[in-house]
Amino acid sequence: MTGILTKYDVVIGLEVHAQLSTNTKIFCGCSAASGSEPNSNICPVCLGHPGTLPVLNKKALEYAVLMGIATQSTINQYSTFARKNYFYPDLPKGYQISQFDLPVCENGFLEISSGHGETKTVRIKRIHLEEDAGKSIHDRGNSTLIDVNRCGVPLIEIVTEPDFSSAFEATDYLMKIRQIVRYLGICDGNMEEGSLRCDANVSLKIKGEERLGTKTELKNMNSFKNVEKAINYEIERQFEILEEGGSISQQTLLWNPDKNEAYPMRSKEDSHDYRYFPDPDLIPVTISNEMLSEIRSMLPELPGAKIKKFTEIYLLPEYDSSVLTQEREIAEFFEEVCKQTLAFKEVSNWMMTEVLKILNEKKITISEFNITPQNFAGLINEIKSGSISGKIAKDVFADMLETGKDAASIIDSKNLKQISDPALIEPVVKSLFDANKQKVNELLEGKEKIFGFFVGQVMKSTSGKANPALVNELIKKELENRKNE
Ligand code: ADP
Ligand code: MG
Ligand code: ZN
Repeated sequence: MTGILTKYDVVIGLEVHAQLSTNTKIFCGCSAASGSEPNSNICPVCLGHPGTLPVLNKKALEYAVLMGIATQSTINQYSTFARKNYFYPDLPKGYQISQFDLPVCENGFLEISSGHGETKTVRIKRIHLEEDAGKSIHDRGNSTLIDVNRCGVPLIEIVTEPDFSSAFEATDYLMKIRQIVRYLGICDGNMEEGSLRCDANVSLKIKGEERLGTKTELKNMNSFKNVEKAINYEIERQFEILEEGGSISQQTLLWNPDKNEAYPMRSKEDSHDYRYFPDPDLIPVTISNEMLSEIRSMLPELPGAKIKKFTEIYLLPEYDSSVLTQEREIAEFFEEVCKQTLAFKEVSNWMMTEVLKILNEKKITISEFNITPQNFAGLINEIKSGSISGKIAKDVFADMLETGKDAASIIDSKNLKQISDPALIEPVVKSLFDANKQKVNELLEGKEKIFGFFVGQVMKSTSGKANPALVNELIKKELENRKNE
């Protein structure tokens, strides 16, 4: 890669399709759910039968505008639908309804990471609404099957300017987009199932030259890892061709994740090949000022702002902030807990380890978690006040998880309160010393290891409830007494 970078600039632009999580399709009342019986969620409208008329789903428009606002785009209060004409078996209408010269959002921005702690602002050229096409299924015997359920499912396409200079940047952008659509609740972001799809346009440009090189378009990467691998593969491939004096042909390549190679799918059409024209069946989309401000008010606090707040208000390290803001619900749980305790870092530690572990193990979301933010704060406060030790806290946590009870009542009913009164521990230490004279002597002779034995015994005879720091202190004190005897 370093050889490439001394001679060429890598230029990448992304086109991301996000399937909007509306109940119904974009222009008809059919269910937009995936996983239904093939060819069951269809009607004359989404199949484009003659004489039918599409009507725009307001929710889909709202979602597109939300994404526009979240990416600081200009919202076009007047936009239009166009027909993109092409033949493919999974497109019974022969055209896809999309937006062309007047998309609903334009000129947005997103801050991404370039690696090594550096950030960069990427320009978003446009976000437009369109309908999805159907699906061809090739892996059932000798014939290809077609499922048109997906025809008419609403998508937004988010198109960047060619602003990325590495596969790392492109992947980081995609992760941020996924995080935002999930925060907004407009798309589930599932790349394996295709609710979030990314096409990567890649070219190399000789350093110092103005003109961009010919690009190829990569498709079919269904994970972040594959996006990164496919882009790096394509950079190398183009470099080898250019170095041998060849030229890049503009084409679409399909990524094969099993072979780690990309194969040409078709030579790439130019937009004029699609014969875009305004859809005569759909009136222009207008967004009133009222509607716009209503949508604006639905905008949640976004990941960028949350991270800033977590580091500046809750004083968490960057790492904690980014882990806890990964998912909106986790971030909100954290904030709810912190309304009732000031031990922010302690909450963060417990959430990043114990809580996330449980969610992972049980494959549940935080909304299905059995401990309420209030009870969780209660547990943290019991630890901070010295009422229970960190070790006992793990048991209390397990109990809370099982029973849904609050920490205080578990500590009470199981009598788990930490013993921090020296008068209760001293006699234990003394009788232990009396019963183990030989070991006391060894300890006095400098056998440090024996110390742990005494600590362990005191903890054992107090069922782990003695305050460990205090136990240490009292053993040392008793040792001094015996030394002077
Ligand atoms: P097309 O008409 O081929 O779809 P667009 O102008 O719509 O091309 O751009 C599609 C995507 O390709 C955009 O994300 C854009 O940033 C990117 N792109 C355009 N030119 C290049 C290039 N030379 N190298 C890499 N990406 C490019
Ligand atoms: Mg395009
Ligand atoms: Zn329909």
